[in-house]
Amino acid sequence: MRPEILFPYFANISQLAGVGERTHKLLQNLLRGDKIADLLWHFPSGMVNRNYSPKLINAIPGNICTLTVRIVEHIAPVKKSQPYKIIAEDETAQIMLVFFKAYPETLKRNLPAGATRIISGKIEKFNNLLQMSHPDYILRPEDADKMPKIETVYPLTAGITNKMLNKCLQQALPKLPQLPEWLDANFLKQQQYPPFNQALAKIHQPRYESDLQPYSKERCRLAYDELLANQLSLGIAREKLKKQCGREIKGNGILRKKTLDALPFKLTSAQENVLKEIFADQASPNRMLRLLQGDVGSGKTIVAFLTMLNAIECGTQAAIMAPTEILAKQHLETIFPLCESLGLRAELLTGKVKGVKRKKILEELAAGQINILIGTHALFVEDVEFADLACVVIDEQHRFGVHQRLSLSQKGKAADILVMTATPIPRTLLLTSYGDMEYSKIDQVPEGRKPVNTLVMPLAKISEVAAALQRKIQEGVRGYWVCPLVEESEKIDLAAAEERFAALQKIFGKDVGLIHGKMKEKEKDAVMEDFKTGKIKLLVATTVIEVGVNVPEATIMIIEHAERFGLAQLHQLRGRIKRGFQASTCILLYNYPLSENSRARLDIMKHSEDGFEIAEKDLELRGGGEILGTRQSGFCEFRLADMEYHKNLLLAAHRDAQLILSTDPELKTARGQALRILLYLFERDQAIQRLKA
Ligand code: ADP
Ligand code: MG
Repeated sequence: MRPEILFPYFANISQLAGVGERTHKLLQNLLRGDKIADLLWHFPSGMVNRNYSPKLINAIPGNICTLTVRIVEHIAPVKKSQPYKIIAEDETAQIMLVFFKAYPETLKRNLPAGATRIISGKIEKFNNLLQMSHPDYILRPEDADKMPKIETVYPLTAGITNKMLNKCLQQALPKLPQLPEWLDANFLKQQQYPPFNQALAKIHQPRYESDLQPYSKERCRLAYDELLANQLSLGIAREKLKKQCGREIKGNGILRKKTLDALPFKLTSAQENVLKEIFADQASPNRMLRLLQGDVGSGKTIVAFLTMLNAIECGTQAAIMAPTEILAKQHLETIFPLCESLGLRAELLTGKVKGVKRKKILEELAAGQINILIGTHALFVEDVEFADLACVVIDEQHRFGVHQRLSLSQKGKAADILVMTATPIPRTLLLTSYGDMEYSKIDQVPEGRKPVNTLVMPLAKISEVAAALQRKIQEGVRGYWVCPLVEESEKIDLAAAEERFAALQKIFGKDVGLIHGKMKEKEKDAVMEDFKTGKIKLLVATTVIEVGVNVPEATIMIIEHAERFGLAQLHQLRGRIKRGFQASTCILLYNYPLSENSRARLDIMKHSEDGFEIAEKDLELRGGGEILGTRQSGFCEFRLADMEYHKNLLLAAHRDAQLILSTDPELKTARGQALRILLYLFERDQAIQRLKA
């Protein structure tokens, strides 16, 4: 599969001298992989330049110096806690070499009085004396060339040193074959980018500090390569989907009209515009592949429902998929009554539906008796067969990846796909993950919504907050108390939530409930149900409530350790209390002291409710990686490109990929062949498979 020229890039690092079993494990963690390519993508964070060799009298403290000195005398410490000192000199001045916890015998052997030595390390001034503690290098003059003049410095982990990494790279780099140029010649010239191999070598063997900057030609070149591979593979996936002809879905509008007439509200013009785009997609002979973005509460559900009705009006079926059971059930609760009044059938199918019931649903589905199937990803396991599925809606899509989206689209006869997300994704990031989709945005919430009053307070005020909350709850208000859940230590976080729950129980008694991700689905449902009906008035929750839960009566939210959450996550959480038409309050409790960045984040939350604005700010403050709070989001899986610096390159790569695919869709030209190598290099093998299929 993989072209032979790339074999050296994908060889295992265990081939390198010095990489034994133990080192292999450590490196694998550090590099996020154990291939030579992973080593190559591990970029240096700095460099040490040992070219500075002044006479002592001219040496500027604070710098790395390489000095030629004569050893004058050893001063052994009186007390054990004191350092071992050695005086050395050149013809201009003296310097004190300082060693803590030294082995005197070794020092006497390596630095005998009267001998000349080359030493290199950071020079400092202490009590008006020049000194160097623990020189990095101590060499005899005849061994001078054993010291690298420039040393690359890498992000490290315990057990791995710069010397080791440098040694690995010195072995790996010369073995890499020259790869054919995949970038457009004119573009290359205009950007003054070096060839790929040259760029890679220079990144790992920098000569000047400027070589290390994210804007250096070398780093930009490699970032561009990675982004181009990403955009190209998305583009290929999209072309492929488009080619699988869609069908012309153009219903008579009767069901839709009935629904709209019965709604207690009028659609916002944003909803109407989006529907126009969707209906046009459905009517076209191409397959719809559209992303629908809309802030929490912007009314995506009704848009999805009308989309599905259009398909049903044509005698076909529709399905809606949610990321969790709770959400799927919530969709059922909204959609079921709407269907009933239209004489349609909606059913729920999740992993929990089993046995006879499941069998019956599957039979009715295959017979076309069910119009809308609602569920989790269980909808798309092998044995689920539709009579004629023409429309798939995927809710809260950031939980699913591009590839799931594609496998899912195999079901049904060229079913149209509408993906809905409440996550406001900045435009730039859209390209990286959804570059294969058209997109629409509901940029308006229904009128009459009250803003959320957001307060930012130190954790120290927690008892005041609890007291105020108690008064509110006595007045009949419902609220959430959110405890942070950090992936790394779910257990500890859970303990914290349980502790908080116990403490609040003392104040609120039976009015308080607890919900967390480790609970069984049934238990979660029971707690949610109690919260909905008002049996529970305060719900202590880990971030499991993040997505979509709808309890309009809940108008208060306390978020503990708000500084630990990402902006997008805070926004999602706060969205839970923005559903009704009542005023609501969100209290962000933070732990003192706040980092500047956390302060900025909380400040944005206090002043903005616009998800798109918040997302852009989030991107600015944290780079792309954290945009959704967690890594699993599948965003920004870039290793070389950094959205903070390389945003513009992404746009260029997007256009480049479009142009390539419009002129050479099969990647058959010489450049196309080179681009195939690029795709393999960045492990987009799937894209190539798609080209072949
Ligand atoms: P989300 O986009 O978060 O999925 P929903 O579809 O759940 O939002 O809508 C939130 C609430 O707003 C629901 O109760 C829904 O009935 C209501 N709603 C939707 N559209 C409108 C509208 N145009 N005017 C008033 N209320 C609306
Ligand atoms: Mg929703």
